[in-house]
Amino acid sequence: MKKFLIGLGILAVLLGGAALQAGLSRPVVSYDFHARLRPDAKTVEGRETLTWLNDSPVPAGELQFHLYLNAFKSNRSTFMRERGDSAAVRPADDWGQIVIKSLKTSDGTDLLSVLEYIRPDDGNPDDQTVARVSLPATVHPGGRIGLEIEFVYKLPRVIRRSGFEGDFFLVGQWFPKLGVFQNGAWNCHQYHAHSEFFADFGVFKAELTVPEIFVVGATGERTGTRTNSDGTKTYTYYQEDVHDFAWTACPAFREFREKFVLDSPKVETEMILLVHQAHLGQKERYARALRQGLEFYSRSYGPYPYKTITLVDPAPGASAAGGMEYPTFFTSLTTSYVPRGIRLPEMVTIHEFGHNYWYGMVGSNEFEEAWLDEGINTYSEIKAMDHYYGADRSMIDFAGLRIGEVPYQRLAVIGSGRFDQIVKNAWDYIGGSSYSLNVYAKAGLMLLTLEKWLGEDVMDKVMRTYFETWKFRHPTTRDFVRVAEDVSGRDLGWFFDQVLASPDKLDYAVTDLQAKEVAPFGGISDEVQGPDAKAALPAGGRKTSAAPKTYKSEVVVARLGEWIFPQEVLVTFENGDNVREYWDGRDRWKRFVYYKNVKVRSAEVDPGRTMVLDVNYLNNSRVLEPRKPVVAKFAAGLMKWFQGLLSVIAI
Ligand SMILES: [Zn+2]
Repeated sequence: MKKFLIGLGILAVLLGGAALQAGLSRPVVSYDFHARLRPDAKTVEGRETLTWLNDSPVPAGELQFHLYLNAFKSNRSTFMRERGDSAAVRPADDWGQIVIKSLKTSDGTDLLSVLEYIRPDDGNPDDQTVARVSLPATVHPGGRIGLEIEFVYKLPRVIRRSGFEGDFFLVGQWFPKLGVFQNGAWNCHQYHAHSEFFADFGVFKAELTVPEIFVVGATGERTGTRTNSDGTKTYTYYQEDVHDFAWTACPAFREFREKFVLDSPKVETEMILLVHQAHLGQKERYARALRQGLEFYSRSYGPYPYKTITLVDPAPGASAAGGMEYPTFFTSLTTSYVPRGIRLPEMVTIHEFGHNYWYGMVGSNEFEEAWLDEGINTYSEIKAMDHYYGADRSMIDFAGLRIGEVPYQRLAVIGSGRFDQIVKNAWDYIGGSSYSLNVYAKAGLMLLTLEKWLGEDVMDKVMRTYFETWKFRHPTTRDFVRVAEDVSGRDLGWFFDQVLASPDKLDYAVTDLQAKEVAPFGGISDEVQGPDAKAALPAGGRKTSAAPKTYKSEVVVARLGEWIFPQEVLVTFENGDNVREYWDGRDRWKRFVYYKNVKVRSAEVDPGRTMVLDVNYLNNSRVLEPRKPVVAKFAAGLMKWFQGLLSVIAI
């Protein structure tokens, strides 16, 4: 999901008994849906045939399901309590829920009578987003179980990734969905205000029935369409190697299809754009950004493997459904008018498309380690946006104002408190903004800092290797670190331990800069001892009258934050000479002293601006005698004011 830190206003069934197939992923689940949308009632009536393979070495005596939509059943749910905003007061029709009508094993044994809600994360008795059923017989390692589930999903008015607005329907997190059986236990977390998802790969098949006037889009490839005698149409979809399925329907969509072909690496897919008629003017911006996303991610990490990619443009008023990812299907975001230089639709399109890699194919646990999808994807998004739009203007290039993505992301980190670290359960952050700035901005900038440290070529190889090694699997933070260390051949524990596990900051500064003329020699000189002393001694006992002046220049650099990172310091002298000093950055401060016949002019820590995590660039340099003191002071003041302003509105 795309979080906006700054208001941009201003600115399968196939598995049943079959052997594992040789697909891209190891299919653990298969879902076969039959769903009917009732637009007037705002409901979806669904039937789900589910098969689960116990792919673990431990027997399973129960199943656990996500029933995400019950987050919107009342303002007592964990989601609504954590969110705690005005959405908690809603008209009756705006609430949503999922009601399970029937739950049986494929041999007809009823399980509904043993279904119970559980609250593994917070014990909230009013939360019904996770359910457990005890099984009549244990599923042994390598064994399968089939279920038949009938349910009715009442959509809420659009709220976080799902719902209706008028005749626009985004049907996400809509079906009873199995958790992940790992290490002998179910990993099945409640739906939280700031958490996303985790599920196993498999085969998804759907028959979606809607009134004929609706235009439909969904995860995967459309395999059939039929018109029914009751004024409805049924669309069938199929997709392997994914872990979720979402769909949308709206009569006001205009559908655009375009082939996307890339020679190196080989990619052939169909772009399907569902653009609301109110935003038709923006269609080309969406299309171009999607082509850029396909090209950039395919070239940087690995070829996009699916036959379709569907972009959904939410209806006006449904922006809460915007900026959300599902496998092969995502929602972007725009408004009826966004100036070309404000790259909102572009950024959201590239970001959400990118989740096909980080979340879609590389299936990390978004509940527990959200940075692995959002942080890595923010890093990828920055790289793509800078590549296509220019690093100095990749976010905004409008009315003379140019802002690149890196400064934009830095704004979030600069103003942050030291409350939380990057790796943490999504629901354990002090608040939504701390979650966002850590897992998105700080994690993205961390990877950019690592890139500058390792070099772009090495970092590219790290990212490609991580994708190649972990696609269609469930990696953890440790797996990412291991890939980075293996590929770079360096011990990076010191880096990741700090940045991932501590809420502190990186801030290095030049804290003192001075130059003093060295007093002429005074005292007893060795050179004037002995029998020739008199001859060597100039008149008055001094020998320096004709010697050039000598200056003692001092530079003090300091570590103001807790994070330790080796630093380069550039010291420049009055005559233009400079020296580059290297400091391991461990102590709280370090002094460099020079005796020269010229004074020091300036000193700068991290002159290459490689440490984008440094929370204050203003203290990175000092000038002894600023040549344009007034202008420099004014510019510094302006920057400080700008940073201060933006850190306040960065919520
Ligand atoms: Zn995202």
